[in-house]
Amino acid sequence: MRGVSGPRTERERGVTPGSECWEWPFARRANGYGYLSYGRRTWSAHRLAWTLKNGAIPPGLFVCHHCDNRRCVNPDHLFLGTPAANTADMMRKGRVARGEKGSGAKLSEFQAMDIRRRFRAGERQAALAVEYGISLFTVKALCRGKTWRHLPDARATRSPVVVVRR
Ligand SMILES: [Zn+2]
Repeated sequence: MRGVSGPRTERERGVTPGSECWEWPFARRANGYGYLSYGRRTWSAHRLAWTLKNGAIPPGLFVCHHCDNRRCVNPDHLFLGTPAANTADMMRKGRVARGEKGSGAKLSEFQAMDIRRRFRAGERQAALAVEYGISLFTVKALCRGKTWRHLPDARATRSPVVVVRR
């Protein structure tokens, strides 16, 4: 009966099915994030985990959890987010529905941005809809910025194709 009791499946959270959270077993801050001293600095454990795998965190970006588990330091569950996305993510997790209002959002902010990014890179909306298990209508509204407006990339549009004549 795996996955039946949880509010969302691993796939819906953007976590590779079957990959487990690595919960930080040592000191934690009041906010739930683990921390430790490393290289003369005090690090949040998940930020260090991301850095050791991927390199320095670009200035101004957050390391976020796909799995919503602040104790987790599995690099596969971590992704970079902008302050705006992080705020939006926190609001969503605070049950403030801002994505697909009233319909029970099926996508995470990360997935919504991924769909927009891939659409702009030239992928077909129909293929994206199938991959994410959502309707073509939903994908179109997302790519037009009609839904998920609070995300930082909502107003960007697909680059026009420039034809160079010689
Ligand atoms: Zn995790």
